Amino acid sequence: MINRKSREEIKRMRHAGHIVALVHKKMREVVEPGISTLELDNIAMHVIKENKAIPTFLGYNGFPASICTSINEKVVHGIPNEKEILKEGDIIAIDVGATYGGMVGDSAWSYAVGKISEEKQKLMKATEEALFAGISKMRPGNVLDDISGAVEDVATSYGMGIVRNYGGHGVGHQMHEDPFLFNYRVGDKTPIKQGYVIAIEPMLNLGCDDVFTEDDNWGVVTKDRMPSAHFEHTVLATDDEPILMTTIMEG
Ligand code: MG
Ligand code: MG
Repeated sequence: MINRKSREEIKRMRHAGHIVALVHKKMREVVEPGISTLELDNIAMHVIKENKAIPTFLGYNGFPASICTSINEKVVHGIPNEKEILKEGDIIAIDVGATYGGMVGDSAWSYAVGKISEEKQKLMKATEEALFAGISKMRPGNVLDDISGAVEDVATSYGMGIVRNYGGHGVGHQMHEDPFLFNYRVGDKTPIKQGYVIAIEPMLNLGCDDVFTEDDNWGVVTKDRMPSAHFEHTVLATDDEPILMTTIMEG
């Protein structure tokens, strides 16, 4: 069942989301050729802890790090590693979760490492645009399929593949709550209600839809080894405009 969040829960989630956004602000500064994904993890952990939050991913189903770092053909769930060094032309998706006051914020962003190809630029543009198209449908009067369809339409208009096996999700006391949200139409007529909080997270591929899981049982990689991008915000449905929970709060 889908829980509507109370005003008080939303306040704590907004704070958790603010901390997640602070991590992304820092990632944007430090992502450059030569840095390892383990260094990124250490920096992210530091930002989360200095803001008195808990890294949600660390220990989640046994995940060994505070962030997921997924380079190029890796779609999601990459484990940070000291031997994995960013190089010019890579794209890296960084997924961040922080728990504050028992509530979770969850947001992923893809970053260019130095100068990237036009194809990768197009992939990132399409995925970010798909995210915001989905967010615009997060309002009472709509159903879950409206979000999924908006994401699918943008992906299709750019000719991108859509990862089928993973999608968005309710978020709150737990990182993954009901409902599951597909990134393409499945006919889900569940109505969106004020107080629902959902992590909307398109994962688009430059090539085919298909992915597989690596031997470490975490990393998800495109079958054709073409690049993949991932953008995610935690979003609150209100009676008015949808509210992004994973942005920096001013003041
Ligand atoms: Mg995430
Ligand atoms: Mg998520």
